[in-house]
Amino acid sequence: MNIQVQCCGIVLLLFFLYFYSRQKNLHLNTGTAFFRTLIATLVSITMDALSIIAICNMEKLPLLFVELICKTYLATLILPVFCAVCYICTDIYTKRVEYRRVLYFNAAIGLVGIPLIYLLPISMHCDVMGREVYTYGPSVLAAYASAVTYFVINWILLLRKKNVIRKGRRASMQFWMLVWMGAAIIQFFHNELLLVGYASAIGIMVLYLKLENPEMNLDRETGLFNQMALTRYLKQLSNREKHFAILLMVFEHSFYKNSSQESETIAEMEMIRFISGMPGTMAFKSAGDEILLLYEDRAGAEEGLKVLKKRFECGWGKDGQVFRHPFWIYLPDSSVLQDVKDIALLIRHVRQNSKELIDNGFLQIGGELVQEMYQTQKMEQLIFDAIEQDWITVHYQPIYATAEKKFTSAEALVRITDKNGRMVPPNDFIRVAEKNGMMLHLGEIIFEKVCRFIKENNPAQYGLRYIEVNLSAVQCAYAPLADTYIAIMERYGISPQMINLEITETAVFGTKKVVLDNMNRLIDYGVSFSLDDFGTGQSNLNYIVDMPVSIIKFDRGMTNSYFENGKAKYVMDAAMHMIHGMQLKIVSEGIETGEQYEIMEALGINYIQGYYFSKPLEEPAFLEFIRVRNV
Ligand code: C2E
Ligand code: MG
Ligand code: MG
Repeated sequence: MNIQVQCCGIVLLLFFLYFYSRQKNLHLNTGTAFFRTLIATLVSITMDALSIIAICNMEKLPLLFVELICKTYLATLILPVFCAVCYICTDIYTKRVEYRRVLYFNAAIGLVGIPLIYLLPISMHCDVMGREVYTYGPSVLAAYASAVTYFVINWILLLRKKNVIRKGRRASMQFWMLVWMGAAIIQFFHNELLLVGYASAIGIMVLYLKLENPEMNLDRETGLFNQMALTRYLKQLSNREKHFAILLMVFEHSFYKNSSQESETIAEMEMIRFISGMPGTMAFKSAGDEILLLYEDRAGAEEGLKVLKKRFECGWGKDGQVFRHPFWIYLPDSSVLQDVKDIALLIRHVRQNSKELIDNGFLQIGGELVQEMYQTQKMEQLIFDAIEQDWITVHYQPIYATAEKKFTSAEALVRITDKNGRMVPPNDFIRVAEKNGMMLHLGEIIFEKVCRFIKENNPAQYGLRYIEVNLSAVQCAYAPLADTYIAIMERYGISPQMINLEITETAVFGTKKVVLDNMNRLIDYGVSFSLDDFGTGQSNLNYIVDMPVSIIKFDRGMTNSYFENGKAKYVMDAAMHMIHGMQLKIVSEGIETGEQYEIMEALGINYIQGYYFSKPLEEPAFLEFIRVRNV
């Protein structure tokens, strides 16, 4: 009896079945479809072997029974092919309705093919030694015709939808189909070579190794599901419009990699085992090194949180000596998100922006925070588009010198005009650009625009001595800032005396040395500096002593409280005397009325900036303003 090939195929498939079912499984649609294909192939190849045994014992068995076995084998021959269509469709049709439609169509082909296989006559051949065993006749033809129809459909599907399937994935599927087809053709012309079953097994092996190995979904170090698995799983939940709850553990130090001591590694492994074993919990390790726990609903998540918090208090490792206190982020209901795939965005947003998380170690995410995240995302897109499409403009607000009684400087203030012509104020987008890293690029664009403006219009001819350009804290802490700005000034050939850079005290909170290096280098080159926003925040006078600035800008809030609050007067008076004592000049911002102006002038403030004189103006209007007013 010639069933060695079938036996090899069965052994191979059992081997994969064992591994597949032993491994931790994410229960993705594609995984389930693959599992069905694997089982169908196993059934088919077993039936193949059984049919050979039946044919070899034809004389001893009732003919109808042998025919039934052979026909059942033929029917199961098209089963793996049908399952393969389903497997491919899970990749192509993410919407359930579409998927079902294609599935019913394919099932209809089977419903025609299978009755034909059973109804049409079949012949069986077996030589004396039992070496050449095969079936032939119309029933066999019906089986081949159905299988080929499936393959043609599959192939067309793959080609038509090639843009939705990754190339490597498509290639693996096509390889599997080619192997099957090749074997089927050989078997068709050489009936005695029963290759199809074995070819199916080889095909399954390729799919397993290339696409469906559950190991690919696991994080190497922790054995939890990895980021790729998370992305795929969220996509599936999103397609099914399923909601869930999430608990996220953020560790201060990079999790697992940083443990230098064995005791810590042991403790962390214990922690992972504990988390993995929690009922109703799917644990992922995200790319950001967080541990993300996914629950079907809020009740499950809250129970999980309770258990975990309690367990974390006991410590880990030998004698519970290792303590790890993660920050907890809790999203009770994913329906607040427009799309569950936005979870990664949300986590990033929360980690960047939430002070509450750092202060309390716990943050519950509600609809408000999610809306804020979407706003930020929209703003990020706007900044990105503004840079790409050149929607960035600079407006200039004139600054009046009280002694000379004319406008001697101006502040450059950035604006974005979106595609609907709406002007977006800087307070909305500067903060976002500072956080997401676009500020450096944005700052350079603004500075270039100011330099171009100076070069093209030579505002010095109207009595302007310099233009104040805002620098954000991120820019100040960027070591190559001075070189970049000097290069820009040189490229436009403008005098550095025309530039005064405004910094704020927040710039010095972090890397004071870098900030001072940048400032000194630019000052050596000829640029001067102002300290902006004085009167907000801490306004520590030490900053003035330390910082090589020549102008202090009193914030609008500070100026206003001078008019409104008796005590504030004394504070400002004192600050003013000290600043003047240091031979520094003062700009008062936010002066809106003639009365306010007179008070400031009488006080001895050097420069006045505010709506009383002018709002920030576009280039032509600004030039016209100083030309007319400075005559
Ligand atoms: P800032 O540097 O303190 O700029 C002064 C702000 O006060 C400007 O707002 C200006 O239009 C406004 N202002 C001036 N006079 C008056 C007044 O009399 N009444 C009122 N209500 N407001 C007045 P703007 O242009 O919206 O800018 C807001 C902030 O955005 C700026 O505050 C600055 O921190 C930031 N910013 C603006 N342009 C840039 C830039 O190019 N780079 C950076 N890094 N930040 C910028
Ligand atoms: Mg400013
Ligand atoms: Mg200011």
